Amino acid sequence: MTYRIHTVAGRPAIECLLCGRISELAGDVAHTYCSRCKLFHDVVAEGRRLLAAGGTHECDEWKTYRDMCALCGHALGPRAGLEEALAIYRRLSVDDLRLFRAALVLDRQNGAAPGFCDDRILAIDRELAGRRRPG
Ligand SMILES: [Zn+2]
Ligand SMILES: [Zn+2]
Repeated sequence: MTYRIHTVAGRPAIECLLCGRISELAGDVAHTYCSRCKLFHDVVAEGRRLLAAGGTHECDEWKTYRDMCALCGHALGPRAGLEEALAIYRRLSVDDLRLFRAALVLDRQNGAAPGFCDDRILAIDRELAGRRRPG
């Protein structure tokens, strides 16, 4: 999941894990929408399911506010530095991280910017290792 539902002052709010925005607007919560990324999280989830099943996608159609592809984690612009990627990785679930990692490995096999992919694969591995540590 690329979002989380919180309670803010007794009302539900939606946090976009891809950019960090928290919205208390009822419409955003109901439609799992991020107005900053301009993406519906339920649509992102479906896209990620298809990607995990071997489907293809156009990264530009899934561009988030942080200039990262919501499906595969590919960098698409100036806001998608490694620091931003690390902040996003810290928010995502283990399943989401595994999917991003698999997409990066695929990218790497296809010859896309090995340095870029290696940096992020390493960062995801560190994050996953941290989650496994007790406490
Ligand atoms: Zn967002
Ligand atoms: Zn992509």
